[in-house]
Amino acid sequence: MELQQVDIGSEYHELSEEVLSARITARKEELGEKLLILCHHYQQESVYRFADMTGDSLKLAKHAAACNDKPYIVFCGVHFMAESADILTGDNQAVILPDLRAGCPMADMASLDEVAWVWKELASVTAVDRIIPVTYVNSSAAIKAFVGERHGSVCTSSNAERVLTWALERGDKVFFFPDEHLGRNSAIALGIRPEEIILWNRDEHLGGNSEDAINRAKVILWNGYCTVHMQFNAAHVRMWREKDPEVKIIVHPECTHEVVSGADHYGSTENIIQAVSSSPTGAKWAIGTEINLVNRLVRLNPDKEIHSLSPFQCLCSTMYRIKPKYLLWILDNLVNGEVKNQITVDPDTAKLARIALGRMLEI
Ligand code: SF4
Repeated sequence: MELQQVDIGSEYHELSEEVLSARITARKEELGEKLLILCHHYQQESVYRFADMTGDSLKLAKHAAACNDKPYIVFCGVHFMAESADILTGDNQAVILPDLRAGCPMADMASLDEVAWVWKELASVTAVDRIIPVTYVNSSAAIKAFVGERHGSVCTSSNAERVLTWALERGDKVFFFPDEHLGRNSAIALGIRPEEIILWNRDEHLGGNSEDAINRAKVILWNGYCTVHMQFNAAHVRMWREKDPEVKIIVHPECTHEVVSGADHYGSTENIIQAVSSSPTGAKWAIGTEINLVNRLVRLNPDKEIHSLSPFQCLCSTMYRIKPKYLLWILDNLVNGEVKNQITVDPDTAKLARIALGRMLEI
């Protein structure tokens, strides 16, 4: 049964920032060692400052698993991240998402039904036992389980190239979902020729491809995308090149290949943080990723000149749903012995998804 976010009531909606902050701090102290608050890098500052640990989705899920003495894990991120944490943590731990509406549009672009349907379509024209499915970690637990059951693996934005290499050593083709752009950028970086990469358009028969093209393809890409990283375009890259040739451009690989190929560097959120933080005083950067992270890098690196690659605010609106008032509501309930918004993956799905996650960790 799908959980739905309940209205937390005016007693929370009407609280000022100062009151929320003081009450969250007090609740954290009351819950003490029982509580672990995890915050993704894209969280807004008003929530991020309460984090016990910050990071990208996988780092946070692994940290949750390592802290097996913490019964309450409040995951300030989006739904698939909380699912991954639940898969990797023990039965004695409850993973909680403060607002259940915090989903990920990209993960939602590949439902289990759709992917299973496409797999059948592929089986009608090619040998699916020679296809290795690879899913980006930004996908539902059901999709990770689908991959785990078919000898495939999960990948992240920092190891996608390694996982693709592993998959192509085991099969003739990779079926990569849900992010078209991470898949294409990784495949091109590995030297796979553009004519060996095909796009599967979900609304078309055989994804809009001929049987011949499917049989010749090495990489089949699902046509999903991140609504945030799609906001960066080649004109933004040109704008910075013309404005200031000293500015280095760094972007996330969920951006289109046009943007990635025009940038000086690309990498996961952790890689971006590392590159910017370790650059010398006076370095100039234009960064193509979510605005809360860019703004944080500006604050943490006052000796550098840091800009967003786009003049517009590229905000992850679903991450943004995690607000201090929802965090407080969760903590108030925990203090009263009630676990709200627990994210639970059923044991069969979790078992298969864990296999796919485990393969990635081995690779
Ligand atoms: S930034 Fe993109 S991929 Fe990440 S949670 Fe938001 S929509 Fe999903």
